[in-house]
Order: sequence, then C-alpha cells, then structure tokens
Amino acid sequence: MERIAFFDTKPYDREWFDRINKNFEIRYFEARLRPESAGLAEGCRAVCAFVNDIINARTIDRLVELGVEVILMRCAGYNNIALNAAKGKLKILRVPAYSPYAVAEHAMGLILALNRKIPRAYIRTRDFNFSLVGLMGFDLHGKTAGVIGTGKIGRVFIDICRGFGMDVIACDPHPDSSSGIEYVDKDELFKRSDIISLHCPLTHDTRYIIDEGAIALMKKSVLIVNTSRGQLIDSEALLSALNEKRIGGAALDVYEEESGLFFEDNSDKIVTDEVISLLVSRPNVIITSHQAFLTEEAMRNITEVTLQNYEDYLQGKQLDNEVKSKE
Ligand code: NAD
Repeated sequence: MERIAFFDTKPYDREWFDRINKNFEIRYFEARLRPESAGLAEGCRAVCAFVNDIINARTIDRLVELGVEVILMRCAGYNNIALNAAKGKLKILRVPAYSPYAVAEHAMGLILALNRKIPRAYIRTRDFNFSLVGLMGFDLHGKTAGVIGTGKIGRVFIDICRGFGMDVIACDPHPDSSSGIEYVDKDELFKRSDIISLHCPLTHDTRYIIDEGAIALMKKSVLIVNTSRGQLIDSEALLSALNEKRIGGAALDVYEEESGLFFEDNSDKIVTDEVISLLVSRPNVIITSHQAFLTEEAMRNITEVTLQNYEDYLQGKQLDNEVKSKE
C-alpha cells in the first residue's frame, strides 16, 4: 500500500481521512512540515501538508532526498510553498475549491457578530447582565460592501451581501463583465465601502493591500473582514487605526503571524506577540483561528479531492489540480 505522511494533523483531519480513505496507508504527524521535521516522511512517496507548513527550498530538498515525489496540499492556498524550488523535483497538488460557501458564510457571520456585538451580548447575558449599553450596531441594508477578489468565495459573499440588501462594489484584476458586479479601482472601494471583505489570494501584489495608505482613505466607521490570508493586512497599521478610532472594527480569521499560534490551544502559555495580544483585547475586534473552511461539506470535499489527486498522480492521469511555478 502506498504511504502518505500527513503533517500538522488535528483530530478532525484524522476523522475525515480515516472515514474516506480506502487505498493508502496514512502516517499522521502532529508536527508541522518544515526542514527539521521533513525526515518523518521517510518511506513515503507523498506528503500531505496544510496552510502553515513551511515548504521552503530546504524542506523540498530534504523531501526529495527521501524519495518524496508529491506534496498533496489539503487546502486551496499555496503561498507557503517555494514553487521555484519544487520545479522539476516534486509535484504540488492542491484542492482548488472545496466549499466557497463555508468561507463566505463565515465572513458574513463575523460581520454580523462584529457589527451587532453578539459575542459581547452573549458574555453579558451568561452573567445575567441584560444591559444594551454599548451594543449599538448599524443596518447592513442599504450599506455598501467592498469586495476585494471576485473569485469563487468572493462571488458567494457578494450574493450573501445582496441578500442583505447591500450595494456591492468590487475590485479584481480579472473582472467578470457578465456578472453585473460594479467594479471600481481599489482606492474608490476603500473610500465608498461600509464593510470591506478580502477574498483575493496572497501574492506579491496583494501583500499588505490593507496598509496605512489604504486605511487613510476609508470611512471612520468601516468594518474590515479578512478570511483570506493574514499578510493581506499590515497588522500594525490596523492596530494603530483601531487605537486612533480611524476605523470601526475588524474581524480576522487569519493573521500575518498566525503560524505556530493558530490551530493550537495556547491558553496556558504566555503569548509574546504584542500585536495579536492588543488586537484580541480590543472590543471592536473579533478573531477566529483560521476556521472559515471548517464545515462538514468542506472537510468531505478536501478529503476526497486530496486522495483523488494522489490516485490521479499514481495512475498517470492529467493533473488538473497541479500548482506550477510561473517562472
Ligand atoms: P479564487 O482563485 O477563486 O479567487 C481569487 C480572486 O482574487 C480571483 O478572481 C483573482 O483574480 C482575484 N485577485 C487576484 N489578485 C487580486 C488583486 N490584486 N486584487 C483583487 N483581486 C485579486 O480563490 P477563492 O477560492 O475565492 O479563495 C480566495 C482566498 O481565500 C484564497 O486565496 C485563500 O487565501 C482564502 N481561503 C481562506 C480560507 C479560510 O479558511 N480562511 C479557506 C479557503 C480559502
């Protein structure tokens, strides 16, 4: 039986892969994939990795030395892989889409929670504090949602916003002219939006797409939601804007320094990341731990496509889900 070394696994990964896998021997490891842990893949032709694994040139060379031929990403994003280093040495396969609804619905959930202060209300009522002071929100109906990236998730998010009676504007270097979406340039989107939701990938062009300059253009009441990748936002600029009341609030499912922090229980540790410590403490910030993808439908799709990707590789089929270096 072909063996797959699974890195950075959690109980829910094991549950789903054990439920669906029939054809492979899976070796589960809690360790994240990185140069130092790559040796665990010995005896496996494939490794399965996730969003915060460190798949740099050293990791890749070590895996190649061990005879690994394929990296199966059980996610859509691949910004953590040195694609150039993998070129001609290893195949990288991913799950390009598993449930855009999971992520888009979580983004709207965060907006509702942030705007209507639902976590604060929940904590209060558990302590029999039924005061409404400080819980004022605004109607989403009639407000403008600015959507950055109108791919699979962005489009579902736009439909949800329209269901709420919002006006939608968007920016994307590849606009879909048949969609009826009003495309504007980034600066106009920053100026006009009441909420801004990020749905573009992390690339050289999009790193810190929300920075000091972008924030300076925004409405003082704007709510910023990031369910895409942490480095789309300059977290220090965001924190300054929150401190100086230059924005209304932020909801973050991803954080630029999330690696080693998110997905783990750090409740008995001293978290030394000052920026996230301050962000967490702000009443107008909600943070979830990269959980937007976590629905049963998404996990089923991730599992099935990841395993199918490896089957296709082994059978020499065309690899539609291969990620290749553009250089
Ligand atoms: P997609 O490829 O379908 O769409 C991405 C869109 O972004 C494309 O239309 C692309 O043209 C656009 N884009 C690229 N550069 C841009 C720029 N500079 N400005 C504006 N738009 C730009 O991807 P998707 O499936 O919709 O996923 C979007 C992102 O969501 C992924 O890249 C990933 O980082 C993130 N994601 C997060 C989670 C989570 O659990 N939080 C889960 C899945 C995906």
